[in-house]
Amino acid sequence: MRILVVGAGIAGSAAAHMLAHDGHDIDVIDSAPEPHAGGYQILFNRTAMRLFRQIGAAEMVNELSTPTARITVARGEKVLTTIATHGYRSARRGDVVGAMSRFAAARVPMRFGVELSGIEQTLDGVTAHFADGTRGDYDLIIGADGLNSTVRRLTLEIDRSYIYDNGRRNLWVNVPGRVAGTTEAAILLGKGAAAQVFPYTDHNETLVLTSINVGRGRTDPQQLRRIAADLLVSAGPKFAAFVDPVRTATSDDMKVTRFAQVRAPRWHARRVVLLGDAAHCIDPLSGAGAHGGLLGAALFADELRRTPSDPAGAAARYARRARPFVRSTQLLTAGILERATARGIAQRVAADRSLIGAALAARPADVPTRSYHAG
Ligand SMILES: Cc1cc2nc3c(=O)[nH]c(=O)nc-3n(C[C@H](O)[C@H](O)[C@H](O)COP(=O)(O)OP(=O)(O)OC[C@H]3O[C@@H](n4cnc5c(N)ncnc54)[C@H](O)[C@@H]3O)c2cc1C
Repeated sequence: MRILVVGAGIAGSAAAHMLAHDGHDIDVIDSAPEPHAGGYQILFNRTAMRLFRQIGAAEMVNELSTPTARITVARGEKVLTTIATHGYRSARRGDVVGAMSRFAAARVPMRFGVELSGIEQTLDGVTAHFADGTRGDYDLIIGADGLNSTVRRLTLEIDRSYIYDNGRRNLWVNVPGRVAGTTEAAILLGKGAAAQVFPYTDHNETLVLTSINVGRGRTDPQQLRRIAADLLVSAGPKFAAFVDPVRTATSDDMKVTRFAQVRAPRWHARRVVLLGDAAHCIDPLSGAGAHGGLLGAALFADELRRTPSDPAGAAARYARRARPFVRSTQLLTAGILERATARGIAQRVAADRSLIGAALAARPADVPTRSYHAG
């Protein structure tokens, strides 16, 4: 089958590698001018690492990452609990995304600087239109083009209502140094705000990622920086060195994102299927985005192998298998964050409802066991 993969992120590159292994004729495009590099910290959980191993990319990911630090959860200066992270690894997201695209490019043609702009489905195929005016004919298009997916917009979405927005904003600042004498990570809880303070374990820098409940208010970066700095102050002298770098961060040193989850009722339409964040972004705070992207790629490849001439059936079965993980992880991530940053009883009750939903939706992991090593 001739397949176009749109997006050379972790989901797209993994899918391209697996489907090429199964004998499909794959093209990959990405609108970025070149493979990604650098960026903020990303966490890979044990399932993500297992899936990297299955495609033969674990050694490469190990080289770019280090074991994740133990996490302390605190309110003010009081430690509430600690979380062990055995088997988790941390890396710069861009470095791993770039390496994954180069890894897949060893097996499939990959073009950077090419943007998908239109999709036309016919009875026996699908045509992709590119922003440079060229086109290509395929049997299947895989949209692995991230949170603001063009493929999703062109095939499934009539408006942006699939994006769940709970009024939280994430402020990302990399600050010099680490908590003195330790590589421990921390989650700090405050009033209407919570922060993940994650040291880069291979160099002397720390990510301070603060989620702030702004409700329907305007996002004023100066106010977000002040709230984040106040939260660090309230956590005591351990975090004092980070206060000024956060308070005075310039637009070059920081990034503001919305908490965003894609909660789409469908992930496929005839000869188009969505994978990774395009289908079901869970929000970077979850620490499960790479897990979700890799899992979706593996499940879809598994299902397409069962019915190679029926991509729509394979897509429907992949979605059924991946949804329990996605639904419970989305509800859990939203519920924990909304509970931690709630303002007032109504918001706390809504968060509790999300957490109960997560508990009810939880199912044993459905992770395929096939190996996709080269050769
Ligand atoms: C800053 C940040 C930090 C994160 N931290 C974590 C973390 O700690 N743990 C975790 O598990 N997850 C984290 N995530 C999420 C995680 O990176 C993703 O969930 C995971 O990598 C899967 O991404 P993806 O491949 O689906 O999409 P993406 O990584 O978003 O890749 C999509 C690709 O599609 C390309 N593209 C977009 N539009 C088009 C178009 N029209 N035509 C062609 N190409 C296009 C983009 O250039 C991009 O390369 C983080 C995400 C971000 C943004």
